Amino acid sequence: MWFHRDVSAALATVPVARAIGQDTDRYAVMTRGLTKRFGKRTAVDGLDLLIPGGSITGFVGPNGAGKTTTIRMLLGLIRPTAGSGTVLGHPLSGSRAYLARVGALIEGPTFYPPLSGRENLIVLARLGGIQNKRVDAVLERVGLGPRRLDPFRTYSLGMRQRLGIAAALLPSPELLVLDEPTNGLDPHGIAEIRAMLRSFADDGMTVFVSSHLLAEIQQICEHLVVIESGRLLFQGDVEELLAARAPQLIVRTESREDARHLLALVSITGREARIVGEEESVTLEIAADCSWAGDLNRLAMAGGITLVHLSERRSTLEEAFFEITRNCSAENGLANAAPHLEESSARAAKAWIREVPRP
Ligand code: ATP
Repeated sequence: MWFHRDVSAALATVPVARAIGQDTDRYAVMTRGLTKRFGKRTAVDGLDLLIPGGSITGFVGPNGAGKTTTIRMLLGLIRPTAGSGTVLGHPLSGSRAYLARVGALIEGPTFYPPLSGRENLIVLARLGGIQNKRVDAVLERVGLGPRRLDPFRTYSLGMRQRLGIAAALLPSPELLVLDEPTNGLDPHGIAEIRAMLRSFADDGMTVFVSSHLLAEIQQICEHLVVIESGRLLFQGDVEELLAARAPQLIVRTESREDARHLLALVSITGREARIVGEEESVTLEIAADCSWAGDLNRLAMAGGITLVHLSERRSTLEEAFFEITRNCSAENGLANAAPHLEESSARAAKAWIREVPRP
């Protein structure tokens, strides 16, 4: 387990120093202090990453956060300025040892426009010494079978992304790295990619997928890495993050008087509750999950109160993330979330989280 429910501990990163060298079977990717500078600009700043094998891990951060630079270092395309790490058990400095087991789609796929999807993949397969039957298999896998003979230039954005993913699948990778695969896609296209990634993970593949949309990644991933200004803000299990913020029962009564009465009755049970909204609001938030809904109903009935609405509300990922970082910041600064994170950086990150659109 990566995190405890305790707020501070929930944001503490796993001691990567201990993990490195001991857990390469468990983690497809581990880095320690991974850093990249371009001249005076630090694009990636001391990243300690742990990406569990067989998971779908989301890599989230606003534009310019350093996602692509990190991915390029993991793929051996650029050399880190400092830090170390392993991919599939091999050090980053020896990427030749692992690249044949890694499939990647970064910065949008480039293909020959007049050639068909199939011909484009055959070109790539030849370069990689891969048989043509694998080309047909991956085209089917990404749902391009019926359009495989059409010229690439006639493909929609979603089809182009799927062809890019098919190209990344050619070497039968153990680790699939996708940089913003849903960028520019409509909700239908995003749902297709999501289902596809799920099926890859079900087959045992580790999927590492970047996005600048937290809400979108919530629907795709089990694990999450959040970076901002090149620094680690959070990494951990999405469910754990959501569980760290307790669910609530949302209740509406017929009158304000009933709402006040119910608030008093609930308070006697020891549960936290409050009336939310405007002065005449009849809506209560109660710290409980749906297993307490029956008791609540009976309590209201015994008090002569009719409930006109009762539902359970679970927080979205961005709400949970924002609340935890806010609590953590209030108590200790964001040091527990990311040891090197400065307050200005934390503020910017939180502003970004707040702006993230809902699904
Ligand atoms: P986006 O979501 O917009 O793709 P990102 O999180 O992938 O952003 P990067 O592309 O990794 O971010 O960029 C991180 C920072 O590093 C940015 O400030 C960018 O301008 C800078 N950067 C990236 N590549 C280079 C380069 N080759 N030379 C100079 N600066 C670079």
